[in-house]
Amino acid sequence: MVTGGCLCGGVRFEITEPLVAFTYCHCTRCQRRTGTAASANGRTEPGSFRVTKGEDRLRAWRPENGAEKWFCGDCGSALYSRTTDPTARIGVRLGTLDSDPGIAPSARQFVAYAASWEPLPDDGLPRYPESTANSEPIVS
Ligand SMILES: [Zn+2]
Ligand SMILES: [Zn+2]
Repeated sequence: MVTGGCLCGGVRFEITEPLVAFTYCHCTRCQRRTGTAASANGRTEPGSFRVTKGEDRLRAWRPENGAEKWFCGDCGSALYSRTTDPTARIGVRLGTLDSDPGIAPSARQFVAYAASWEPLPDDGLPRYPESTANSEPIVS
């Protein structure tokens, strides 16, 4: 089991099953949400993610297209995304975990929107111009 939480400690959560995916996302939403060039996102097995403390502190931004972005209303830490489908996988921000996620990254997505001020690392990961679900990796 892996646990995690926000910066102020008001919100805590646990993940009871191994993560099923780990990707870096370079989309502009992730850039704005995190203030960084990319977001490290893990995907949970459905039903394995549970908020254990501070449910009342959670706030969400619900864009017209895309998953809800949940964060701590007190300290602003971005914590996870989810759709309204309760059986769907939750996307957890890996920087909020207390320990190693136990999974290696598999891809970089939305690299077409990558920040101009930080080169993509030469880490050998496949690079997808759009999402991993809706595009093919760039062959170089
Ligand atoms: Zn907080
Ligand atoms: Zn993104």
